[in-house]
Amino acid sequence: MGGKRQINNLIVGCGLSGATLANKIATELGEEVLIIDAKDHLAGSCHDAWDANGICIHRYGAHIFHTDDAAVWRYLSRFTQWRPYMHEVRALIDGQEVPIPFNLNSIHQLFPASLASRLEEKLIAAYGFNVKVPVLQLRENGDADLAFLANYVYEKVFLHYTLKQWGMKPEEIDASVTARVPVSISRDNRYFQDTYQGIPLRGYTQMVANMLDHPLIQVQLGTSFAAVKEEVAFRRLFYTGQIDEFFSCCHGKLPYRSLRFEFQEYEQPFFQSAAVINYPCNYDFTRICEPRYFLGGGADRTVIALEYPQAHEAGKNEPYYPIPGPENEALYARYRSMAEELGQCYFLGRLGDYRYYNMDQAVARALKLFAEIAR
Ligand code: UDP
Repeated sequence: MGGKRQINNLIVGCGLSGATLANKIATELGEEVLIIDAKDHLAGSCHDAWDANGICIHRYGAHIFHTDDAAVWRYLSRFTQWRPYMHEVRALIDGQEVPIPFNLNSIHQLFPASLASRLEEKLIAAYGFNVKVPVLQLRENGDADLAFLANYVYEKVFLHYTLKQWGMKPEEIDASVTARVPVSISRDNRYFQDTYQGIPLRGYTQMVANMLDHPLIQVQLGTSFAAVKEEVAFRRLFYTGQIDEFFSCCHGKLPYRSLRFEFQEYEQPFFQSAAVINYPCNYDFTRICEPRYFLGGGADRTVIALEYPQAHEAGKNEPYYPIPGPENEALYARYRSMAEELGQCYFLGRLGDYRYYNMDQAVARALKLFAEIAR
């Protein structure tokens, strides 16, 4: 009478990390799971929904699934079919839309033929063909032509984009961030080279719904952890929200970057020449995404989303990106050691681990955690 409802497993957050764990616990351990999300929808930041024009809109920015991890791909393929899709991005640089990652094609598009050929030869001689070089590494090259190229790419592709996205210069943020998009000494215009790439044919939200469609899984949306912990007693807790907030920011706030999306609709079949166009040096937004490219729809109408980066402010906007760097990681480590003392309480996902995960890494992390608790 009046006691708390007992549940074996409480999972906070219905994104990919939470959904993967819920699915594994229910199907393989045969245990009950309550999974909650403060938002009123499934799939966390990869949430998508079809609009009135039949276009699947990625509400929180372009999400392209890509992985070299066959186990992750096969696991998710139980819950969705995929539309084979190889992502391409272009950036507007000096009035030209050139491939990003910046590659040999970008060079030939931007520079006079003789200069482009010389740069190509020198790059291949210095690093090899089909090799990726982070721009900060390229800047260390002493050759005058390659130094010119490195400075050009630094200035035109990375500097202003990174200032907008992170409020920092490329050399001020952790090198792993700009190394996500290295200069590519190749003719491959794809954004990713992973073996498996695609868009869930019925969307990410449906894929997550399928993961959670199990009699032992109860989903409660629009429900905060604060509200649930008053009513529910749980044996294990899996928390995919902000780890600092969980501990009432007692050691100080972990910083995050946020985004504001501005959606615009046009009565024309396509707005731009690729799914994503970056604007490193123009405007206050970093890029425009046109989701029609992912799953079609729309007929003679299209929708675009402009991405305006901003600082995260609790209660005002969403924390999309942790900000990698030694200071923040030291602060995170203090929360992590508090977490370890709790027992049966696990943190995961971009916000729980404070790691700049791609979707496949989030799923791999959840699968690994499951294997540990199932032992
Ligand atoms: N970046 C850049 N210019 C570009 C593309 C990327 O400066 O045209 C830098 C920028 O700092 C960005 C980082 O590389 O935040 C990683 O880019 P990615 O596309 O992986 O970011 P995400 O899609 O995760 O926002």
